[in-house]
Amino acid sequence: TERTLSIIKPDATKRNLTGKINAKFEEAGLRIVAQKRIQLSKAQAGAFYAVHKERPFYDELCEFMASAPVVVQVLEGDNAIAKNREVMGATNPADADAGTIRAEFAESVGENSVHGSDAPDTAKEEISFFFSGLEIV
Ligand code: ATP
Ligand code: MG
Repeated sequence: TERTLSIIKPDATKRNLTGKINAKFEEAGLRIVAQKRIQLSKAQAGAFYAVHKERPFYDELCEFMASAPVVVQVLEGDNAIAKNREVMGATNPADADAGTIRAEFAESVGENSVHGSDAPDTAKEEISFFFSGLEIV
């Protein structure tokens, strides 16, 4: 079993899609073992996305992530990292497979409803960015 960090992004929380997105995770066999709704500052969003600092969309991405509350969560299950990314679909909703979260809900390549860790080391880092061990049950 494995854990991954998931974020339901501002475009989705604004449209009240938290429950529908969580249903997709649970239907795929992922268990939500920690979850909280928080308002990120632009600086906190920037720290979380520091790996993208040099990308042209970095500033826009940080503004967006701080534009409304997000739901941060830890998902657990067999191959949770890959499974979550499968359920999320491609970064650009135009390329996302039917039935995936991004195909159904994302508005654009930037406002794409969800984030998911991409590897075991980043999952570990991203989980500890938001959660202490005691909060994950
Ligand atoms: P995430 O890391 O959020 O799970 P990802 O791994 O599919 O998504 P990345 O390449 O890591 O995609 O990009 C991180 C985020 O930056 C994307 O989810 C999206 O919100 C934003 N982003 C990526 N490419 C673009 C772009 N061309 N224009 C605007 N925003 C973008
Ligand atoms: Mg990524």
